Amino acid sequence: MGPLRVIFFIVLACWLSRNQGAPMPMKIGAIFHDGDVEHQIVFLHAIDQIKYDSKEPTFEYEPIIKWVSSRTDSFSTERVTREMINEGVVAIFGPTSPHTRGIVSSVAATFDIPHIDFIWIPPEESIYPPTGINVYPNSKDFIQAIADLVKAMKWKRLTAIYETNDALTRIQQVLSLQQPDVMTVNVRELGEPDYRPLLKKVIKSQPYILLSINAENIFTVFSNLKEIRPNLDYLYSIVLDLDMWRLPLHEALKQSRSNITGFEILTENAKDVSESLKFNMQVESALLYDAVFLLNDALTVLNERLQNADKPMVIEPPQLSCNGTGKYSAGPSITNIMREISKEGKLTGYMTFDEEGNREFELPVVEYQAMNFIQTGVWTKDGGLQLTRTESDRKEAIIENIEKKLFRVTTRVGEPYVIAVEEGADRGILIGDKRYEGYCIDLIMEIAKNLKFQYVFELVPDGNYGSLDKKTNEWDGLIKRLLDHAADLAICDLTITYERESVVDFTMPFMHLGISILYSKSDPEEPKLFSFLSPLSRSVWIYMATAYLGVSLMLYIQARISPGEWDNPHPCNPEPEELENNFNLKNSLWLTMGSIMQQGSDILPKAPSIRMVASMWYFFTLIMISSYTANLAAFLTTGKMETQIHSAEDLSKQTKIKYGSVDRGSTKSFFQGSNFSTYQRMWAAMNDARPRVFTSSNDDGVDRVLKSKQKYAFLMESTTILYKIRRNCSLVQIGGTLDTKGYGIAMPRDSPYRTIISGEILRLQENGILTKLQRLWWEEKHGGDTCDGKDTEVDDSSELGLANVGGVFFVLMCGCALSFLVAVLEFLWNVRKVAVQEKITPCEALIAELKFAVNIWAKTKPVKVAKSSSGTSSAAGGLGRAASTARSIVGSFLRLDKLDKFDKDNKTN
Ligand code: GLU
Repeated sequence: MGPLRVIFFIVLACWLSRNQGAPMPMKIGAIFHDGDVEHQIVFLHAIDQIKYDSKEPTFEYEPIIKWVSSRTDSFSTERVTREMINEGVVAIFGPTSPHTRGIVSSVAATFDIPHIDFIWIPPEESIYPPTGINVYPNSKDFIQAIADLVKAMKWKRLTAIYETNDALTRIQQVLSLQQPDVMTVNVRELGEPDYRPLLKKVIKSQPYILLSINAENIFTVFSNLKEIRPNLDYLYSIVLDLDMWRLPLHEALKQSRSNITGFEILTENAKDVSESLKFNMQVESALLYDAVFLLNDALTVLNERLQNADKPMVIEPPQLSCNGTGKYSAGPSITNIMREISKEGKLTGYMTFDEEGNREFELPVVEYQAMNFIQTGVWTKDGGLQLTRTESDRKEAIIENIEKKLFRVTTRVGEPYVIAVEEGADRGILIGDKRYEGYCIDLIMEIAKNLKFQYVFELVPDGNYGSLDKKTNEWDGLIKRLLDHAADLAICDLTITYERESVVDFTMPFMHLGISILYSKSDPEEPKLFSFLSPLSRSVWIYMATAYLGVSLMLYIQARISPGEWDNPHPCNPEPEELENNFNLKNSLWLTMGSIMQQGSDILPKAPSIRMVASMWYFFTLIMISSYTANLAAFLTTGKMETQIHSAEDLSKQTKIKYGSVDRGSTKSFFQGSNFSTYQRMWAAMNDARPRVFTSSNDDGVDRVLKSKQKYAFLMESTTILYKIRRNCSLVQIGGTLDTKGYGIAMPRDSPYRTIISGEILRLQENGILTKLQRLWWEEKHGGDTCDGKDTEVDDSSELGLANVGGVFFVLMCGCALSFLVAVLEFLWNVRKVAVQEKITPCEALIAELKFAVNIWAKTKPVKVAKSSSGTSSAAGGLGRAASTARSIVGSFLRLDKLDKFDKDNKTN
């Protein structure tokens, strides 16, 4: 062994012995830009911590930190990198700018110096040289994880908000992994320092947000959202920033609930380290921290391997000249070991790397709840997204939350759903400064009783149900309140419609109904004196009278023609000199009249032709009188309740009765949007009608029906019709329902409370509470038994009053009066005749005849009038009296003119 060899071994032994005792100095480089102070602090803290943690440290790290002020200054960055390499750094960390990290990476690769990144590098750029590694989660996998999370949310639409071009690219990549046409996406740049106008627009259109903005702005965004809309219950957001945990979101959200989901890479340790450093670490800082430990581990492992090799060696720090072409021989080994190591990072979870230097990771999914983030799942490269929180966990959380929640319930006044209580009464609940009660208030009370939530009612400011103005695309009424998130629930007689369902959510229907027609009953008709004439029209009466005269005349003429009608006046005389005919004009008229009156007559035809005429007339009268009788009964009983319309079809076919509905309600929309021709016709009629036929409320519609005297019908929902007709007997429902639908409780879109409140409605339905409430408000309260829904007029109409049949009495009286007049005339005529025959004055004859007429005991009538004053009588008078007596006895059988002739014959004999 030569002296030189001896010296070499002595030096080596000294060096090795020195290394075994004292840690080997090792320089670690880091390049920072302005603003990276936090990274610098954490970097130094990590080095200190390594020293502190290990009792016999292998290496003593010396941090070499270089600053480049501009984040885009590649020239200076390259210069400081080379300076670092000259100084002999074993590895270089940073910088954090995507514009300058590339130059560092390539310079380091030239000299085989390990280069460690700890920032997001887009997938297309994340190709590292053999000495490069990035501890930031692999961007390609991270994008897949976000895409999986968005997919799992099953959103149909979202607004993505970005701040930087990188974020925009990231969003594009996430969206490109979604199924096409499943989701409508809006992409907006955060832009202006005042984010409120943008956020206002975003949450107005829909509540799903994908936020890819810088961590420091997340807090401001949520504070602004809270300012714009105090209730963030219905806002759903996914935050792509891994820094979210350190933001005091509970301060921004002011303790309210919001649905925020994101990924959390930092472990509990990160919070401890942050606390010891007295600031909340950024995720990059935590990654840098873990990267320093990773390098230390790699150096330690390599060192151990070298020492355990056949020829034990130590890792030497690089001694390179940045102008030379030398390479650091241990560099690739250090990087390889870093890539091979699988270890739990101190602050950022498990660390493994693929062969290209990308970090593989397990990414916990977190949700913001009860002012904190809790883990609800995990994403791994092999297993994809696995959400550990089941639907029932979610439900439980909502139920837990519901008890703490104060529901703002919006409603409108309308009987019997919400009714103002009269002044002074203390029933119902206070809304504003007045008390209200009603079916809907009771229903909310019942639901809240079981779910144990608090509620406060408000009356919708514009008083409308909720309809879409097609021109402005704006909703009004209750629906607007929900869309503005000014209320959590909307309840009244609010119909579930397709249009409304597309912007808000409805519970199960709590009541079923359909559109029907409300109309007023006809006023009781003024009874007509001659109503017995009504069954036949005037022309029929005239035709009947004409037929009566015509047939009587025919009888008279035909009877004269027919030989069969000429009879022997003295049947005992077989050879009469004269024949007589029964059917003179008077008797003909009497026969036809007798049959009309259904009484028959003593004078009956014998000749066949006359019998034929008579039978035809009998047949005619049979039919006419039967028809008259039948019609008369119907007229007298049903005439009063007759209405002209019986269905919507009838309404559509006429123009006399106007009809309308509540303005801006679902009934109006039903006709407006109907494809059925009858309803289209009705819509056109309603729309063109002047004055307008639409009313602002159901009550106004009912008033209009009552005042219009059957000139206006109101298209209204059957439930409310039922309520009204039970309380006002002059109202009536016409026909059945035109459609079937239901009332539901509306709530903002995707409200977490829908299922639970729907379930509660079902429960109330099943245990009969809904029916009980309906009976209470429809049939019992506020005069619900006034009409019992029965038509009282129908009962009355079966009895006929004098007013209905008075005409008949009148005709009877007139007929009697006329007959009396005729009797008087007959009497006077007889008086005249007697005066002439007896040769007395008419006055004497009149007195004599009157005396006789009023003497009701006189059963026979003397032929001659007793001379009241002279008392004279004669032989001729005796004969005449005899004749007159005979006249009075047989007068009913024989004709007077024959007796007169007999008198004359006697005189001449
Ligand atoms: N219930 C209806 C609605 O929700 C209002 C009344 C009607 O249109 O008949 O719009």
